[in-house]
Formats: sequence, C-alpha cells, structure tokens
Amino acid sequence: SSTARIIDGKAFAAGLRARIAGHVTALKAQGVTPGLAVVLVGEDPASEVYVRNKGIATAEAGMQGFEHKLPADASQETLLELIARLNADPAVHGILVQLPLPGGLDADKVIDAIAPEKDVDGFHVQNVGRLATGMDAMVSCTPLGCLMMLRDQLGDLSGLEAVVVGRSNIVGKPMAQLLLRENCTVTIAHSRTRDLAGVCRRADIVVAAVGRPRMVQGDWIKPGATVIDVGINRIPAPERGEGRVRLVGDVDFDSAVQVAGAITPVPGGVGPMTIACLLANTVIAASRLNGIAPPA
Ligand code: NDP
Repeated sequence: SSTARIIDGKAFAAGLRARIAGHVTALKAQGVTPGLAVVLVGEDPASEVYVRNKGIATAEAGMQGFEHKLPADASQETLLELIARLNADPAVHGILVQLPLPGGLDADKVIDAIAPEKDVDGFHVQNVGRLATGMDAMVSCTPLGCLMMLRDQLGDLSGLEAVVVGRSNIVGKPMAQLLLRENCTVTIAHSRTRDLAGVCRRADIVVAAVGRPRMVQGDWIKPGATVIDVGINRIPAPERGEGRVRLVGDVDFDSAVQVAGAITPVPGGVGPMTIACLLANTVIAASRLNGIAPPA
C-alpha cells in the first residue's frame, strides 16, 4: 500500500494570498482600499492570537485593518452601537466579531446586526439562506477553504460521496451546502449518527469537524479517499516539557495517512486557508459594495 499525498494548506494559502494581494492592487487603482474591521470583546488568549494573525494578514495583503477591542464587561448595547458604526463606515467592507463572546452577550443578536453584505464570516442568516438557495452569498471561511483544497485535489466533485462529520453552523452545515452545490452526494453525520465508521467508509471525501482529538480512525477511511481534517485540538505533550501541549486534528493522522489518497495535516492544513478565505471574502465585499465585479 502507498501512503497519502499530504495537502500543503500553508503553501496553498500563500498562493491564494498572493492572488488576493493582486486583486487588492487592482481595487486600489480604482480608488477602493478593502477594509476589514475585527471586533474582539474580552481577553480570551486564543481569540487574541487569532485577531493578531488576522491583522497581520490583512496588512500583508495591502488592505486596511481596523481593530476594535472592548472590555469583557462591555454591554450588548455598546457592542451593537459599534456594529452600527462599522455598518455605516464606507472604509469598512468586512466586519468580523471574534467568537466566542463573553457570557452575557448574545452572539446571535450581534451577528444579526451586521450588514449582510459586510458579513465576511458568512454567519448572518441572510447569507446562510442565500447559500442554501443557490444565490451569491458570503460563505463561512473555513468550509470555503476546505472546498478550495478539495477542488484543487480532485477537480470536478460531481457525483462523489461526501461525508461531513459535524453539523455546526460555522463548519459542518455550510460545508455540506457547498459540497451539495458541487453535486456531491452529501451525508451529514453527528453525535447521534449510528455506525459512524460505516458511514465514513462509504465516502470519497471525508470532512471531519468534530472537536474530538483523533476520533476518525484509518480503518474508517475508504482506500484512496480525500480526507480534510478541520479539527484543532490541544492535547498534553509531556515529551515537549511539563505543561506543554500540541495540536492534533479530529482524524488519527498516522493511521489515516496509510489508507487515504490525500489528507490535510494539523497544523498546516485547513487552518492557514481560513484566514486566506477571510481576505478573499473581504475583497468580494469591497468589490460588490462599490459596484465592481468581484474576482472569479
Ligand atoms: P462544534 O462543537 O460546534 O460542533 C461539533 C460537531 O461535532 C457537532 O455537530 C457534534 O454533533 C459533532 N460531534 C461531537 N461528538 C461527536 C461524535 N462522537 N461523533 C460524531 N459527531 C460528533 O464544533 P465546530 O464545528 O465549531 O468545530 C469543529 C472542530 O473544528 C473543532 O476542533 C474546532 O476547533 C475546529 N475548527 C477549526 C477551524 C480552522 O480554521 N481550522 C475553524 C473552526 C473550527 P451534535 O450536533 O450532535 O452535538
């Protein structure tokens, strides 16, 4: 048996970001500098890292970044007022509220307040509905990145059996919608699914978005299948020193790589694509808001 091709998400994302920088240059020549506003409430350390990385990537792409930090005890009204200001600001084309929000704040109400055309996370119910009904929509960045890698690996996805493990609004459901749009036969599995191993074994494409370290085993994978591992799980790594952790995915990479045709590693697979897709969505938003056709 041969081992799987390892999909280099970092390199793929670097290529995408270079293309985006080109689109940004073209937009600037038309008088539009794409602007992304990121809102962080509170001091969650993981969120702070994500927000910092998004700021760096925004600047590297030649876009304008706006960072808004509110204290953990900020009120819902303060947050909604900020969103209203950003909705009205012509220099801001994308608005992202870093989740999770501290207790006491209602994430659904906050997302609902973002102008749908500036909702670069694709979480607004209007964008979710537009995707589901086949209209132009802002699409959630993580599944969008997964789809780009799948199309790069497989070309036309028509007729392939796809199994998405996980049904969150952020990853699983939009992933399933995108695969359906590509004419896959889509199964959405979740915590109540019976015989998950058997369901996965049918799949030409497995997307794991569960949040359980190394749950999907190599013997759940059909030989030659393409495996996309969305999971980011921190597990203890005593071999790196006391109290140290390392990242693993939702797929047991060491066994799956023996069976799959292609597989994304963790880290270095889906993660880097997510930020690149956020930049891509910001370019799309900036184009549409200015009556310019977005890049293909
Ligand atoms: P959620 O916790 O919102 O959803 C997890 C899903 O997995 C649920 O639908 C749940 O089912 C299902 N599930 C849980 N346990 C099992 C099980 N034993 N068998 C089958 N299904 C199960 O997570 P997210 O979708 O937000 O994230 C999933 C993973 O992806 C996490 O590790 C997260 O860190 C990572 N992630 C990575 C990103 C990236 O950029 N690479 C971005 C976003 C997330 P049920 O609905 O029945 O409870």
